[in-house]
Amino acid sequence: MEYHGRGLFHGQEVSIRLRPQPPNTGIQFQRVDLPGSPTIPAGVAYVKDHKRRILLAREGAAVEGIEHIMAAVSGLGIDNVLVEITGKEMPAGDGSSLVFVQLIREAGVVEHKEAPRQIFTLYRTITLENDGARITAVPYDKGLELSYHMDFGDRSVLRQSYTLPLNEETFSQQISSARTFSLSSGVGEFIKLGLGKGVTEENCFLINEDGTASTPINKKRASLRFADEGVRHKLLDMVGDLYLTGMELRARVTGTRSGHLLNVLLAKKIVELAEAESSLSRIADAKV
Ligand SMILES: [Zn+2]
Repeated sequence: MEYHGRGLFHGQEVSIRLRPQPPNTGIQFQRVDLPGSPTIPAGVAYVKDHKRRILLAREGAAVEGIEHIMAAVSGLGIDNVLVEITGKEMPAGDGSSLVFVQLIREAGVVEHKEAPRQIFTLYRTITLENDGARITAVPYDKGLELSYHMDFGDRSVLRQSYTLPLNEETFSQQISSARTFSLSSGVGEFIKLGLGKGVTEENCFLINEDGTASTPINKKRASLRFADEGVRHKLLDMVGDLYLTGMELRARVTGTRSGHLLNVLLAKKIVELAEAESSLSRIADAKV
């Protein structure tokens, strides 16, 4: 199961291949183009940058733009997979998770009944804020429920909200095909940074000040997959970023104007809480 394509930021052509892995291996990326084919685990400890995309690095080997495949593996309930890649940036695909969902379905999913999933049920509220953005996670034992409020200040025409109880079906039908976007006012800065070399008319869209959507290159009216494709994509990113915890999470998470930075900080907090909880239970076990 191989896929070729260009990365959104740097535009380099790469191939990826998914390889099923035994239980407890987790999600890993492997730079097969580098000497020694180093692997980089998909964990918060390896996040080295989170501006507009996630970059993971370990011992000099890096991989970036991994958030949409992370969303796909999380949404489809995959715990173990090795993603081989021949370059630094994941292919953009169509700007959503769709190509990764298809790759996973083609590769087939092996169920390891003897190895239960690692599940973490949040036991206290976490709130994180940064520059007018906020993310809150509250205890909820029935699964992972995500909400997002997209809000750009006084421009009420750009406000969108969405709530998603996450499971394979809701993920596939409601958010997996939502494409990446940018505010048209923020595009100049992006291009100045020399980024966006893999942008096509189809793999992302711009949201204008008046609430309409345009194609990124010719600035024609964009045909959206959902009227609220933007907020759905924010949820897709949230699903991918929270899976950097390496665990299935049970909580209610609400983001307001938040993005990769707060998602990653929340994932870090959750890993800290999970580690504290397991060391407490080890102490309790030791006392018995
Ligand atoms: Zn995204």
